[in-house]
Amino acid sequence: MADIQRRKTPTVLIGQVRVGWEVPVVVQSMTNTDTADVPGTIEQVAALALAGSELVRVTVNNEDAAAAVPFIVEGLEKRGIRVPVIGDFHYNGHLLLKKFPATARALAKYRINPGNVSIGRKDDDNFRTMIECAVEKHKPVRIGVNWGSLDQALLTRMMDENSKRRDPQPAREVMIEAMIASALNSAAAAERYGLGHDMIILSAKVSGVRDLIDVYSRLAERCDYPLHLGLTEAGMGAKGVIASTAGLAPLLLAGIGDTIRVSLTPKPGGDRTEEVLAAQQILQSLSIRSFMPQVTSCPGCGRTTSTYFQELAEQIQSYLRTQMPQWRKKYAGVEELKLAVMGCVVNGPGESKHANLGISLPGTFEEPKAPVYVDGKLYTTLRGDTIVAEFKQILDNYVESHYGERVPEAVHSA
Ligand code: SF4
Repeated sequence: MADIQRRKTPTVLIGQVRVGWEVPVVVQSMTNTDTADVPGTIEQVAALALAGSELVRVTVNNEDAAAAVPFIVEGLEKRGIRVPVIGDFHYNGHLLLKKFPATARALAKYRINPGNVSIGRKDDDNFRTMIECAVEKHKPVRIGVNWGSLDQALLTRMMDENSKRRDPQPAREVMIEAMIASALNSAAAAERYGLGHDMIILSAKVSGVRDLIDVYSRLAERCDYPLHLGLTEAGMGAKGVIASTAGLAPLLLAGIGDTIRVSLTPKPGGDRTEEVLAAQQILQSLSIRSFMPQVTSCPGCGRTTSTYFQELAEQIQSYLRTQMPQWRKKYAGVEELKLAVMGCVVNGPGESKHANLGISLPGTFEEPKAPVYVDGKLYTTLRGDTIVAEFKQILDNYVESHYGERVPEAVHSA
């Protein structure tokens, strides 16, 4: 497998998390609580962080939300959750950052949307105010362009210029170029106002997969800022996950993208951490990062007429989910473990041999036995009602004997 050549960028420090080509692609997420609800937001940020989100963004949309931010950050620290909290600003960020200096300090990064920071103004004083605040507080900034709130004055001007050309480009082309211009012009302005080149991350989000690939491919060619990738408004469930994967995968494989978010619409009362797991799974499926042991299981077919095989695959998955918080702390490299849970003799032994640990269950009409393979070799054959319990025991033994004790991260003193 050819190595991915990451596009070179400066490294941006967000709290204690580095983003850029020298470090692995970072997973981030965003809360959907009312930020003014301090306990509720702490709870959700903690859940996202524990699920593996390395950066968490909260909306800072009004004075109550801004006032709540320092308490949220403090509450997380008290719970031992060290995740940088990013403030998402639209329309009034310049007012909130000035009026709430403790919030400006507590946030690890500001997200500024150049499309709505200076609506109705001919100057960019609001943008400048936010950048000067970031400079003063030593905070990095993401200049986050979104096609749903693209700078209308810029788009109109570019559309007008396009219509006067001899060879006018399709509107889609102009829109993509307007997004790139908005991001790059804003980044150049931020640097003019004193923000360091290595304090800027760019994003240019759209909701169409091919638009996303085009806009980021071009943006990557025209600057060296780290890029935050994400399909905006990806949608719900399978559609959201698939569209995000389809959009992000070609870019990530081309070495483009330093941090990602999968913007899923949750079901009412749904689990917000799904977007973190989806982002991790995209990176892991592309062999970019490892987060969880992977279970290869066949889809089942007419050769597996009972639900036993699906039940075992599900039980192994949920066993891994419950064990991983402890295993991750204890065993170095356990996230790279590969398991196979297969439904019958056709592909079962072969696929099981490719995994670290594999089990091939008996299909319909097969002899009721389940050979288990360890590192490609037949290890034992399980029978009867205790197959699941015995397989879990073999799994526990494998993890304990194959993954070294994880050394706690060194604490460097200045
Ligand atoms: S491994 Fe067996 S049960 Fe699974 S899909 Fe293939 S033939 Fe069907």
